Amino acid sequence: MDGLPGRTVDTSIDAIGCDARPVLRERGQREVFCGLTGIVWLHRKIQDAFFLVVGSRTCAHLIQSAAGVMIFAEPRFATAIIDERDLAGLADANDELDRVVSRLISRRPDIKLLFLVGSCPSEVIKLDLSRAALRLSRQMAPAVRVLSYSGSGIETTFTQGEDACLASLVPEMPVVADGAADLLVVGALADVVEDQFRRLFGELGLDRVAFFPPRKAGDLPAVGPGTRMLLAQPFLAETARLLEERGAVRVAAPFPLGEEGTTAWLRAACAEFGVSSARFEAVTAAPRERARTAIARSRPVLDGKSIFLFPDSQLEIPLGRFVSRELGMRLTEIGTPYLHRGHLAEELSWLPESVALSEGQDVERQLDRCRDMRPDLTVCGLGLANPLEAEGLATKWSIELLFSPIQGYDQAGDLAELFARPLVRRAKLRV
Ligand code: SF4
Repeated sequence: MDGLPGRTVDTSIDAIGCDARPVLRERGQREVFCGLTGIVWLHRKIQDAFFLVVGSRTCAHLIQSAAGVMIFAEPRFATAIIDERDLAGLADANDELDRVVSRLISRRPDIKLLFLVGSCPSEVIKLDLSRAALRLSRQMAPAVRVLSYSGSGIETTFTQGEDACLASLVPEMPVVADGAADLLVVGALADVVEDQFRRLFGELGLDRVAFFPPRKAGDLPAVGPGTRMLLAQPFLAETARLLEERGAVRVAAPFPLGEEGTTAWLRAACAEFGVSSARFEAVTAAPRERARTAIARSRPVLDGKSIFLFPDSQLEIPLGRFVSRELGMRLTEIGTPYLHRGHLAEELSWLPESVALSEGQDVERQLDRCRDMRPDLTVCGLGLANPLEAEGLATKWSIELLFSPIQGYDQAGDLAELFARPLVRRAKLRV
C-alpha cells in the first residue's frame, strides 16, 4: 500500500507464477464505456440475432450514436425505453416488455435469437430479465430463442458486454457428439478476419475448427471434453470459465495481434494438434513476410516514441506488446480495466520490465501520471481525448482499435497504421 486512498500496489505473485511484476490497482472514478457498446459489433456478427436493450433514452443514444445506424436499414438492435410510469411502479414492466417483444417478433420473422440486454435503469428497478427471457422463450419456441445478459454500466465495462453475451450462449451450445477433438476459436472477429483464419487453419490441416459466436444463431458449435479453445479476445474471462466447466481446455497463447502475436497464436493451436513445424513454416512464411513488410511502413514514424495506454477495452496489454516489440515504441504505462493474469500470461512475459501496469482506474490520478510523462502518443477513450489534445498531447481513440478489424496477418499493417496516423497528422499540421 502506498497510503493514498483508493490506491493500492499489489505485488502478489499469481497462482500460475507467470509474472510477478507489481500492478497498481485503482478503484476510483473511471472513464470507460458500459457493456452495451458490445452490441455495435455483436449485431453485425450474429446475423439473425436481435439485441433489445431494456433501458433509458441515454442507453438508446449511446447505441445509436456508436453504431451510426442508417435510416433505411432494418436494424438488429433497439431500446425498450423504461419510462416514468415503469420507474414509479405504475405499470407492470414485465407486461410492457412482453408486449414490445411480441410486436417486434411479429414484425420481424427473420429474428431467430433475441437478447434482452439489461442496463442501469433495468437494474435499478430490479427487472428480472433472466426470468423474462425464460418466459418469452417458452412462448416463442421453437421459432425464437430468448436469452438475457447485462450490459449495464453498474456491472460491466465496454468489452465485458461481449463476455456477458457469449456467456449467456454457452449453456445453449450442444454437447460434442463423437468426442473428437475440435478447435473452438472464442471471441467475435470481423467476418473478413474469421475467413482468413479459417483458410489458414485449413491449409495447416485443421479442418474441425469452429468460431464462437457463430454467424447464424442455429449454428452454435458443440463443446465438450475434447474441445480445445483458443481465445481470440483477451476480455472473455466468464465465457472461458463456463466453457471450461463444459470440459473445454484453453490453449495457452498470446493474442493474434501483429505478425508475432498471430504466429504464436496459430503455433499454439498447431502444437496442440500435432501439426509439424515444416508444414507450419510452409503455410505461414508468405503471410508472415507480408505482415512484416506492412508493419515496417509505420515503423519510422513510431520507433522510439513513447506511448501511454488508458484502460478501456482490455486489449491494452496485447496492443502494448505489439507496439513495443514490432514497432519499437517505448511503453510508459499500460492501464487495463481488469487484468486476467492467466489469460494474459504469455502477453505479460513479452512486456519489458520497465513498463508500469495498472488495473482499474482513478481517472484524475492517471491523468496526472500521463501529464507528467508527456508521452508522444496516448491511447484513451473519447471523453479523455479532446482535453488531452487541447493540452498538446497526441491521442488515439481506443474505440477505433475495437471497431476495426485488427487481428491476423493481413490486418497487421492496418493496426500499425492506426497508431502512426495521429503522429503523421500532427507532423503535417506543423508543416
Ligand atoms: S447502461 Fe447505464 S451506463 Fe450504459 S448507457 Fe445505459 S444508463 Fe448509461
